[in-house]
Amino acid sequence: MGDCIFCKIINGEIPSKKLYEDDKVYAFYDINPEAPIHFLVIPKEHIESANALNENNVNIVAHIFNVINKLAKETKIAESGYRIVNNCGQDGGQTVEHLHFHVLGGRSLQWPPG
Ligand code: AMP
Ligand code: ZN
Repeated sequence: MGDCIFCKIINGEIPSKKLYEDDKVYAFYDINPEAPIHFLVIPKEHIESANALNENNVNIVAHIFNVINKLAKETKIAESGYRIVNNCGQDGGQTVEHLHFHVLGGRSLQWPPG
C-alpha cells in the first residue's frame, strides 16, 4: 500500500534489520526495542489489522506463529520464554496499520500491561 511503512520495509525502500523472510512473511528487529530481544513478524500482504482478518487470509496467522516458533529458538528466548503481542486499533495501541506480531523476550515481562 502506498504510504505504509511496513510495506516499504518489505520492498526495501526503508532499511531494516532482517531476521527472516519467505514468500509470505518478513521478520525484523523493532527500531525501538522494549526488551533485549524485540522483533516483529508481518505478512507480506498488506492487512491493516487483526480486524481485517477473514477466512480468506487468516491462514497467514498460523504461518506467522510457525515462524515465531523457529525465530524464538534462533534468538535463544524459546527456553526462557517470551511474549507475542498484537496491538489492534486505537485502544489496542496500534501505531502502524499493517498487521504485525511483536515478539519480546530476554527479560522477565510484567503483567498486566498498562
Ligand atoms: P504498534 O504500536 O503495535 O503498531 O507497533 C509498531 C512498532 O513498529 C513499534 O514498536 C515501533 O517501534 C516499530 N517500528 C516503527 N517503525 C519501524 C521501523 N522503521 N523499523 C523497525 N520497527 C519500526
Ligand atoms: Zn502495509
